[in-house]
Amino acid sequence: MINFDFDQYCSGCGACFNVCPVEAIIMRENDEGFLMPEVESAKCIHCGRCEQVCPHLNREKFLDPEKVLKAVWLYSSKNDTAKMKSPSGAACFDLGQKMIESGGYLAGCVWNKQLKAVHQIGCDMDFVMKTQGSKYVQSETGFIYKKVIELLKGDGSVLFTGTPCQAAAMHNIVMSSCKNRRDQLVTLGVICHGVSSPAIWESYKKYDTERVGSPIVTVNFRDKSKEGYKKSYCRYDYADGRTTYLPTFLPSSKYIEATLVYNLSIRNSCCHCDCKGINRGVDVIVGDWYAEYQGEGKLGTSCIVANTEHGKEFVLGSLSGLRKFSYKQILQKNAMIEKSIEPSPNRSIFLERIKDYHYWDKVEELYPPKYKYKKLLVKFGLFDLLKRFIG
Ligand SMILES: Cc1cc2nc3c(=O)[nH]c(=O)nc-3n(C[C@H](O)[C@H](O)[C@H](O)COP(=O)(O)OP(=O)(O)OC[C@H]3O[C@@H](n4cnc5c(N)ncnc54)[C@H](O)[C@@H]3O)c2cc1C
Ligand code: SF4
Ligand code: SF4
Ligand code: SF4
Repeated sequence: MINFDFDQYCSGCGACFNVCPVEAIIMRENDEGFLMPEVESAKCIHCGRCEQVCPHLNREKFLDPEKVLKAVWLYSSKNDTAKMKSPSGAACFDLGQKMIESGGYLAGCVWNKQLKAVHQIGCDMDFVMKTQGSKYVQSETGFIYKKVIELLKGDGSVLFTGTPCQAAAMHNIVMSSCKNRRDQLVTLGVICHGVSSPAIWESYKKYDTERVGSPIVTVNFRDKSKEGYKKSYCRYDYADGRTTYLPTFLPSSKYIEATLVYNLSIRNSCCHCDCKGINRGVDVIVGDWYAEYQGEGKLGTSCIVANTEHGKEFVLGSLSGLRKFSYKQILQKNAMIEKSIEPSPNRSIFLERIKDYHYWDKVEELYPPKYKYKKLLVKFGLFDLLKRFIG
């Protein structure tokens, strides 16, 4: 029966919950709004399946004795419409499209009707489009792994996309229940900063609805329609027809500032992540490539890392226009591919105070002092100038 310090080390991937044959495990929201496993010991038959699939308990198994990294590329989709909606170069979108065109399925994160991030599975282009965009909140995986296993056993092929811990969970489940089907599955993990609590997103929506007088109906945290990729916007569309745009970078929407910039509600496991970097549970890694790249236009570029031969074959067979690149350069510019995030020293204060959603009005008091100076510089148009001057 699975048991360790869940609060610190469980990533909430839901693998244990998916494999328990007697439903002894449920995923329950903790005090901070994160889903954690809860095991009913009276029901447990001690089969050990939960322990076999847990990415935390099996973290050493991800690393191959020999070097795992197989290939690294930069990629920018030729489909500008897709790139406009995707956060970087629409690599995930194009890979999803290829999988669908070859008769397979895509599993990925979508916004549901209540604007909650959830994992679902689909087999048409409408679904691929729903997975577009980074939802900066932890997604609920539900029974997604079980559904993928059913499809694999029925001879289907699946591209599974998610955070590296979710991709690793998917890999572990297949390896423990139908190893011979592993070739039908490609696991793709995004470069992952870390995830914020779903309860914080709910509280922000409540606060914003009251402030604006109308609920948010759609959100794009990386909208490129105004100034392209390098200066994306956090776009909220409201039920009454209004739309607001706030820069994705500081000063931004309070939600982005608190969760993504200052890490006030980051999951504890993200501060010592077991699944980042080069590991063979995640066939392919996709992330942002922030620097300009020749001839790319202004809609964005993705970096792609193939950790396995299987991942390399899938990418090479699906995408054209890949440009070979170096892992070292990605690591230099985008340390999150390996490095875990530091939580804010004010994390627990924030999570306590935000239980009253009106606290969003005062959240700036928990930001580091440099925020105020940056905000002033931006207000007077001096920030970009100073950045250019410093180089
Ligand atoms: C929480 C989070 C943190 C990230 N942090 C970084 C970072 O620090 N550095 C970096 O380079 N890149 C980061 N990314 C990845 C980056 O934002 C893009 O998602 C990635 O480059 C893919 O871009 P694309 O243009 O191919 O996306 P698209 O073609 O639009 O595809 C987006 C993909 O992301 C998946 N996805 C979206 N939201 C979630 C979610 N909440 N949980 C799991 N999967 C999700 C979807 O399933 C889909 O496959 C992060 C993404 C997320 C979701
Ligand atoms: S050991 Fe088996 S029965 Fe017990 S909780 Fe884990 S998966 Fe369920
Ligand atoms: S990391 Fe995943 S498998 Fe391990 S205990 Fe947490 S939810 Fe279960
Ligand atoms: S940082 Fe690690 S533990 Fe946190 S969501 Fe990303 S992959 Fe999972």
